[in-house]
Amino acid sequence: MSTKSAATVFQRETLIQQLTTQPRWDLIVIGGGATGLGVALDGISRGYKTLLLEQVDYAKGTSSRSTKLVHGGVRYLAQGDVGLVREALYERGLLLKNAPHLVKNQDFIIPNYEWWGGAFYTIGLTMYDLLAGKLSLGASQHLSKKETLRRLGNLKAKGLRGGVLYHDGQFDDARLAINLAQTAIEQGGTLLNHFEVRDLLKDQQGQVAGVVAADQETGQVYELPASVVVNATGIFVDDILRMDQPTAKKLVRPSQGVHIVLDKSFLPGDDAIMIPKTDDGRVLFAVPWHGRVVLGTTDTPLNEYSQEPQALEEEIDFILRTAARYLTRAPKRSDALSVFAGLRPLAAPQDGSEKTKEISRSHKILVSEAGLVTITGGKWTTCRRMGQDTVDKAIALGKLPKAASKTAHLAIHGAQATPDRSHHLYVYGSDQPALRQLIAADPALGEKLDPTLEFLKAEVVWAARYEMARTVEDVLARRVRVLFLDAQAAIRMAPAVATLLARELGYDGQWEQEQVAAFERVAQHYILRSQVQPETEIA
Ligand SMILES: Cc1cc2nc3c(=O)[nH]c(=O)nc-3n(C[C@H](O)[C@H](O)[C@H](O)COP(=O)(O)OP(=O)(O)OC[C@H]3O[C@@H](n4cnc5c(N)ncnc54)[C@H](O)[C@@H]3O)c2cc1C
Repeated sequence: MSTKSAATVFQRETLIQQLTTQPRWDLIVIGGGATGLGVALDGISRGYKTLLLEQVDYAKGTSSRSTKLVHGGVRYLAQGDVGLVREALYERGLLLKNAPHLVKNQDFIIPNYEWWGGAFYTIGLTMYDLLAGKLSLGASQHLSKKETLRRLGNLKAKGLRGGVLYHDGQFDDARLAINLAQTAIEQGGTLLNHFEVRDLLKDQQGQVAGVVAADQETGQVYELPASVVVNATGIFVDDILRMDQPTAKKLVRPSQGVHIVLDKSFLPGDDAIMIPKTDDGRVLFAVPWHGRVVLGTTDTPLNEYSQEPQALEEEIDFILRTAARYLTRAPKRSDALSVFAGLRPLAAPQDGSEKTKEISRSHKILVSEAGLVTITGGKWTTCRRMGQDTVDKAIALGKLPKAASKTAHLAIHGAQATPDRSHHLYVYGSDQPALRQLIAADPALGEKLDPTLEFLKAEVVWAARYEMARTVEDVLARRVRVLFLDAQAAIRMAPAVATLLARELGYDGQWEQEQVAAFERVAQHYILRSQVQPETEIA
């Protein structure tokens, strides 16, 4: 297990210096989501000189907006995709071992209102569990009506016949992304957030030979040569493909998934609910997460993509309407503490029609004529395997010398064998003693950022010093997750976070004001409209 101290290795200046001292990279990865981080960690741990560039922040894209499940996907088993489910369950088991501070075994209950449901789901989930083999998280079991209602306090009793209990993994997505980035740097990699790839370098034969990238903080532009460039930009893959080939056909079209976050009272207890088939054939989850409940998701094809996708009214209505069918105390719009939307890449129609087809959740690796390697699809759960397969592909193409993957048993930064989840600081895993030392040295850092929530000032300082946070949003969205847990509280905390960050990073009052304003603009997307305050009150 990793016990390494974060210390000075994460200083941005030191990492940027490596851009000028390294004449050529073996591997450059574009995109710092789950996929890019999986590729970078696999590459650096095999010994390749690896650089990862992320235009905003680690997990700024889809990777901070997931349902927070480390799972094989019960839905994909129902669709008969046994190979995908087996692979994902294996990866689930590895992730639980390699990052036990962030990934946990979660009990899920399927409430059953049909006469056939009990046997049907018990058999299906027993198969799901068997596919996990030695990495099983526990057998599924039938629950009586009484037991189901005891465990799911707010569940509707009328017509309920019983429940089926099964196990899956649950995690903090953005924090795992940060820890993966830290692990890759500890292994010798160079990873930079707020660094945008603007173009590709080509050699005389027209082959991709590196990238042109800009430091978003200083505007400084770098030409960075590499043996292999990997496009791991999620929903943005087409932008990079067009840098390679301006007439490239669109590979993906986005489909949006929305989640609503509620107070814990809507799902008392420790169990999650899984509704395997909603009115329109989707799956709906209600999952306990950091003392709140995450409810979702939807699957809405869109024509546009952006860094801050926004929930549509129909998606909100669908989630609340479906929850109301199962919960005695149904959530209303005004109960939403936060709303977040993420984009999954669907295969864009190649024939000009409107019809999209979902890329199987298994990943795809494509190599362009100019040698650009693009990885798309997959899941958070399988990011390690996606990294391994991508680097294997680069080796098979003769772009990298042979070396075996080492990530299957590589502990992720913060890994701690027996995490104590009784305190919210558990997410820091093996970093907790050092974080507590910060507070011991400066007791003011032990104060809360907002009296109504658990988060401490020390976490902001920690995020700036050791977790590469550069903006108020980096801290409140992806280090302490407040934006996803309670968007109004996040807005209240922003000025204090800006002051602490400015002190750490050497910025002035003007920067603080700009940061608070920029964060408030982003945070508006996480508040349901009925809650939005008039512009004048926020400005
Ligand atoms: C609603 C929803 C729920 C999901 N739930 C789950 C779940 O519970 N469990 C699970 O296993 N999977 C889940 N998934 C799937 C999982 O979230 C995705 O597979 C994964 O996050 C995709 O990661 P990515 O790195 O490919 O994309 P992203 O996370 O979007 O990362 C791409 C990154 O590339 C960066 N980038 C783009 N252009 C550039 C550039 N020019 N220069 C530098 N950087 C650039 C972006 O800023 C972005 O950070 C879910 C997906 C959705 C949409």
